[in-house]
Amino acid sequence: MKKISILGSTGSIGKQSLDVIRMRGFSVTALTANSNVGIIEEQAREFKPKFVALHDENAAKDLKIKLADTDIKVLSGIEGICECASLEETDTVLNSVVGMVGLKPTVAAIEAGKEIALANKETLVEAGKLVTGLAKKKGVRILPVDSEHSAIFQSLGGCVSHSEIKRLILTASGGPFFGKKRGELKNVTVRDALNHPNWSMGAKITIDSATMMNKGLELIEAAWLFDMPADKIDIVVHRQSIIHSLVEYVDNSVIAQLGVPDMRIPIQYALTYPERYESPVKQLDLTDFGTLTFEKADEETFSCIKYCKDAFTRGGTATAIANSANEEANKLFREGKIGFLEIGDLVGEALENISVKDDYTLEDIFETDIEARKYVTERSGKN
Ligand code: MG
Repeated sequence: MKKISILGSTGSIGKQSLDVIRMRGFSVTALTANSNVGIIEEQAREFKPKFVALHDENAAKDLKIKLADTDIKVLSGIEGICECASLEETDTVLNSVVGMVGLKPTVAAIEAGKEIALANKETLVEAGKLVTGLAKKKGVRILPVDSEHSAIFQSLGGCVSHSEIKRLILTASGGPFFGKKRGELKNVTVRDALNHPNWSMGAKITIDSATMMNKGLELIEAAWLFDMPADKIDIVVHRQSIIHSLVEYVDNSVIAQLGVPDMRIPIQYALTYPERYESPVKQLDLTDFGTLTFEKADEETFSCIKYCKDAFTRGGTATAIANSANEEANKLFREGKIGFLEIGDLVGEALENISVKDDYTLEDIFETDIEARKYVTERSGKN
């Protein structure tokens, strides 16, 4: 029976992962979250992990009292989460932490030789070269959980050699503002931006979908996972979110993975790969949709896509600057402190004004993160 640690178990992907685990009868060795004591206590009582960890120290103290009648060990802080990521008895670490805070635990898990099921795309955007290099060295597999990357991974099933791949095509729903021009987005509210047409996700990623930064981050994630240059990854807006992404081969044959938009398919595949099992996800009936549409992404309006491509091509710490600037700007927008269009503008400005290190260590990434966040906070509201 597979033993799994889930980092970020109280979020949307974390809860759906526990759904899959419950169904497959896998065992849970550790659960971690940021600060949600109520949900993680409930999960801990059901799945009986050996360890739980909360990032927030006070919440962890609370949880310790709540779980005093069990043998579950309660840890805290980033160290506690890293400990849960590297437990002897764990086979696979599913990382569904939101944001670059997921980087350290991913590295800890790889160092400990754990297979990674990766939903935390920021890990690869911040330090793709370092993380993929370390995984190679340790012989650790990184299995994608993100729906697009799972689709590409599945579409690569028959691929014999990397040289057969001509292009990757990432599909994008386009988010709630597809078709709108810059001028129309000036005064959109947080509530408008949180109204995603197809996927039910956490607040940070839903805002990233509205700015299409999410697709830019995914392009970088795909570049690292599948070893492709940015100019060989295209983005196509596909409003129905039925085709989850495609691979074009040198003979111009294109292979895609389809399904209703439900994360439990990619989550389960990452946890059971290379095997497939039944799932409670609704069967796809193409006649329910009738028409599937495909349109170009508007990189003028959704400038984050272009910034991400440029940052990946620039290399070094540039993608870390883009991601950390976005994390901060996304948060400021959700707090009502900046306008929607300022998110992309601040990412662009940060890339222009913060110096890039070509070679970097993990420490450099954390310094870059602080610098980019500080830049965004200081510049916000000044445009
Ligand atoms: Mg995705």
